[in-house]
Amino acid sequence: MGATIEEAKSGRASCRTCKKTIAKGELRLGVEVTTQFSDQPSMQWHHLPCAAGKLAGELKDALATFDGDVPDREALDAAIEASIKKGNAKPAGFPYVDRAPTGRAKCMQCEAAIGKDTFRVAVEREIDTGAMVTRGAGYMHPKCVAANLENVGGSVEELIEGVQKNSRITAEDLEGVIAEFLPDA
Ligand SMILES: [Zn+2]
Ligand SMILES: [Zn+2]
Repeated sequence: MGATIEEAKSGRASCRTCKKTIAKGELRLGVEVTTQFSDQPSMQWHHLPCAAGKLAGELKDALATFDGDVPDREALDAAIEASIKKGNAKPAGFPYVDRAPTGRAKCMQCEAAIGKDTFRVAVEREIDTGAMVTRGAGYMHPKCVAANLENVGGSVEELIEGVQKNSRITAEDLEGVIAEFLPDA
């Protein structure tokens, strides 16, 4: 489930980003979240300008399907693009491509470190801690995915579809990364 934009029905909800109240009638972004406290997903609200930071991807998707007028739309779009360029926006799910924030993660395929600030492919995988098996992120160099397709959904086509949907990097950057998936193609 994604994010939606609506007019605040009351002035009681506060913004999860800046903690200030969202005025009645003001547009707000609602993001459905599941927490450890409840089986039911709940909505978390954000002022639109506040959401343009970490939630830039969700806000962009929600704006694309919102029919109403959005105040300061141009400034909002510019802020969204700036966040995506800087790599501040959270991916929508696995698999996705982002820039490695550190040089510590090792590639699941070649086991070499993935350089800080270089693009990496993140997939969800099972991690056996010895005591239990949990699910977590695994990372690969873009050029290593072709040799590790069982971890990326089975086919390069599926992986490309997934990263196009979930990644929050610029379309240009993503195209370059996807080109590396099949170096010999
Ligand atoms: Zn706010
Ligand atoms: Zn590798």
